Amino acid sequence: MNKDDSSMPEQIGSVDAEAVGSLRIDVLTIFPEIFEPVLGSSIVGRARAAGLVDWTITDIRRFADNKHQKVDDRPFGGGPGMVMMCQPIWDAVQHVEALDERPATRIHLTPQGEPCTQRIIEELAALPRLVLLTGRYEGIDQRVIDRLEPREISIGDFVLSGGELPAMCLIDAVVRLLPGALGHEDSAGEDSFSVIARDGGPENQRLLDCPHYTRPRVWEGREVPEVLTSGDHAKVDAWRHEQRLARTEALRPDLLERES
Ligand code: SAH
Repeated sequence: MNKDDSSMPEQIGSVDAEAVGSLRIDVLTIFPEIFEPVLGSSIVGRARAAGLVDWTITDIRRFADNKHQKVDDRPFGGGPGMVMMCQPIWDAVQHVEALDERPATRIHLTPQGEPCTQRIIEELAALPRLVLLTGRYEGIDQRVIDRLEPREISIGDFVLSGGELPAMCLIDAVVRLLPGALGHEDSAGEDSFSVIARDGGPENQRLLDCPHYTRPRVWEGREVPEVLTSGDHAKVDAWRHEQRLARTEALRPDLLERES
């Protein structure tokens, strides 16, 4: 990356022209450097290497039209904290959206958005392009949010200091659903909150996952459930389903009432 090239907005990562048809994600942030160590690793990093997804991380600061690259200011009405200004964000969004003709779905990560669920992640994973807007400080001037009309998503009822971690949570969850991202083709389908289609059953529900075990068969006097070592696949399947239902009833009964 050439830090001296101030005429070009800073971007990390690039979109491979041959990867059209894959998912493109653009993140807008004032902390671009914190993304690559997380997104470049493991499943998400491998998915990018395989051309299933690509992302650019764009520094909002590069779009500030003042010489100090200031992107925040004091709140009208007084009070503590700073507010992210409209202009740099508006210009940054216009810039990244012009980089690719695929229609972009704008997402603002905010604690006031709809609480994220696996169903929302599935919806996002089916889209061609996401533009993720991350805030800092007290948040973003409401006028640019009103003008951009993004979908607003929260990762939970708690407040973080910035939208970068929420954006990375969302990217990780979306990318692992892209076909080919996980080693085993259907392993995502059996995770917690996924719809597991079962032949002939009404159990089109989103359940918690069953417990998992690996070697050794006995650890510190604790044995693996016998059925798992029986070699009887039908029995194992039935046991796992019972476990999913029982755990969901015990730990998250709300999931059984919710529509999938
Ligand atoms: N004053 C705001 C919080 C600002 S926190 C409020 O009370 O609603 C600063 C930034 O962190 C936000 O702009 C948002 O991008 C991000 N953020 C914090 N908590 C979040 C959450 N639970 N989900 C998604 N983004 C969050």
